Amino acid sequence: MTKQINNIINGKTVSSTSGKSAPVYNPATGEEIASICLSSATEVSEAVAAAKAVFPAWAETPPLKRARLMTRFCDLLNQNNDELARLIGTEHGKVFEDALGEVTRGIENVEFACGVPNMLKGEYSRNVGPSIDTYTHRAPLGVCAGITPFNFPAMVPMWMFPNAIACGNTFVLKPSERNPSAAQFVSDLFHQAGFPAGVLNIVNGDKEAVDTLLTHKDVAAVSFVGSTPIAEYVYTTGSANGKRVQALGGAKNHMVIMPDADIDQAVDALMGAGYGSAGERCMAISVAVPVGEETADALVSKLAKRVSALKVGPATDPDAEMGPLVTKQHLEKVTGYIAKGVEEGAELVVDGRGFNLQGYEGGYFIGGSLFDRVTPDMTIYKEEIFGPVLATVRAKSFQEAVDLIQAHEYGNGTAIFTRDGDAAREFADKIEVGMVGINVPIPVPVAYHSFGGWKRSLFGSHSIYGPEGIHFYTKLKTVTSRWPTGIRSGAEFNFPTLK
Ligand code: NAD
Repeated sequence: MTKQINNIINGKTVSSTSGKSAPVYNPATGEEIASICLSSATEVSEAVAAAKAVFPAWAETPPLKRARLMTRFCDLLNQNNDELARLIGTEHGKVFEDALGEVTRGIENVEFACGVPNMLKGEYSRNVGPSIDTYTHRAPLGVCAGITPFNFPAMVPMWMFPNAIACGNTFVLKPSERNPSAAQFVSDLFHQAGFPAGVLNIVNGDKEAVDTLLTHKDVAAVSFVGSTPIAEYVYTTGSANGKRVQALGGAKNHMVIMPDADIDQAVDALMGAGYGSAGERCMAISVAVPVGEETADALVSKLAKRVSALKVGPATDPDAEMGPLVTKQHLEKVTGYIAKGVEEGAELVVDGRGFNLQGYEGGYFIGGSLFDRVTPDMTIYKEEIFGPVLATVRAKSFQEAVDLIQAHEYGNGTAIFTRDGDAAREFADKIEVGMVGINVPIPVPVAYHSFGGWKRSLFGSHSIYGPEGIHFYTKLKTVTSRWPTGIRSGAEFNFPTLK
């Protein structure tokens, strides 16, 4: 019998009565390995009600006590990181070391949340007026919701709920329906750590579940990570329903290779950033921009050899550098983009289509692909492919490379490889992109900084996790008080000022 993935509401696993479900596949074999429930609006409302009921007590729990539970949760995650990484590999397809990297970066967010008492500290000003003092503190919002994508089934949820909960909120998480087991596993550890029932709830589902969260009167804030069209929809719908929303979307990340760059270092960087996790990362480099023909020729010839030699295999193969794509539909989409690139006139230097792995014929495998002489009007340049397909756009000058990036609709991440400090500084200053790497291909900020793109890669005014995450999940209160009582200066009809 296939494994059933149910909801976790008020600390208990609850079987769905919606009558709707979806299959979960192992992308390495194409085998159906689980069935996930797709919750009804009523079931999602039950999760929100559970989170709402426990909120007053949880918000009043001293931050240090909340942080101690978070520390226990962190310990449990560290003790079980291998098992979690293997689980991710089974449903997502990414290779073990990559999955472990995801888990580690997720845990770093829990470590950050352990320091929440310090983050919630306010400011104090004595004697802003005679015997009048002002202080501030950050208050939790209430029930917060998180809607997450398939590509980081453990890390992205951990970008959200640990900070939200440490701040005194309660949470309803709706994970991706393609690989829901990681969130279930993390939730088990969370409850083992001793958090009260109802503080973290998990509902599985599709658009109906998301729409219920976006319109529910008792949901105060929504964090979303996924593709740009859905991010925009979540932002507009959630905001129209009075919620605070941060919605992170898709990307097309360029890496500029200057003529003075160390080409071998740049090639290594492009291999990892373009093909790691089969290109299914929002910070993957999908466009290489060599500056000058000589740089381009050297780069493409070195890359071609490396891409052709990529080791592709299942998550369980310790030698594999890249696993399969997540679903059959996604494999078809990626191969469709490659065909479109050829049709529109790009030069396909390495073709990853038709890749076959003995013993895994039913899996969603594809080899790495490399395009040269891609131009900005082509579909494979404009759209996010989210697969192991790197497009090379040759630029004549540094300025042409910068203009290219500025004109793109996305602004998640970018990188420049150079030995020229002037060029690097100008690039970092001027580029209209939220996260910039200088000789660093995937500049994902550590958990004590914040993550967020610009332009159509993020809707809302808050980046996610780190200090911005704490601000997103709290509201500022400012108290002005006069002591002792009994001081009389008569009724003041004018706007109060210090005389
Ligand atoms: P997706 O947008 O298809 O799904 C994300 C979530 O939205 C899922 O939980 C899904 O159930 C829900 N959803 C899907 N369709 C919906 C609809 N019509 N109405 C309401 N909810 C809906 O994204 P995905 O394919 O799971 O993930 C890949 C995408 O996520 C890529 O575009 C990638 O760039 C992006 N991503 C962005 C970041 C970032 O930080 N900016 C990080 C990771 C992934």
